[in-house]
Amino acid sequence: MPRSLQKLVDLISELPGIGPRQARRVVQFLLRTDMAFKKRLAEAIVTMNENISQCSSCFRFDEVNAKGTCSLCANPNRDDAVLVVVEKDVDVDGVEAVHSYKGQYFVLGALMPLARQRKNVLSPRVNELIKRLKAQQHIQEVILAFSTTPEGDFTAKELKNKIQESFPTTKVTVLGRGLSLGAEIEYADQETLRSALQGRSEIF
Ligand SMILES: [Zn+2]
Repeated sequence: MPRSLQKLVDLISELPGIGPRQARRVVQFLLRTDMAFKKRLAEAIVTMNENISQCSSCFRFDEVNAKGTCSLCANPNRDDAVLVVVEKDVDVDGVEAVHSYKGQYFVLGALMPLARQRKNVLSPRVNELIKRLKAQQHIQEVILAFSTTPEGDFTAKELKNKIQESFPTTKVTVLGRGLSLGAEIEYADQETLRSALQGRSEIF
């Protein structure tokens, strides 16, 4: 493969979920598309951050207001006594799609790894979460809505301990039954997620 194409393959392989083989397929596809499409794609990537920033409160990427907060965090009609903590931005969309949760959000950014950290692994925003709870003492319940994977369970237990070290009266809950083992919030269907939210229970 020519060096200029190999460079693109290497870049695309850095995207999540894409290995070298898929990257080569993407490059082969791009090679055959017309210049107008390539320009639109490049332009969209370059300008994607212009109106989008990371919310200073929940850390998800969204259009933010002058105070740096997103539309969900800035909405005065939302319940500020309950906070859902999720791993990723898309998990917020998943919970929002259920239309039954009206509280606040916090995006942890990553789960706590069980094994030794691999390269390029993001670290979870644990300190930022504790800071948020300190700043917003009206939060009475923290719902840990993680995937039902070993990392998700591990992160929930560790976070619960961390939270209750500083806030012993804050209720810390996890999603209830319904989510099958290994289920990711991102892919959970709405009915399952709704009943998992309703059936949440305190974690011990
Ligand atoms: Zn926000």
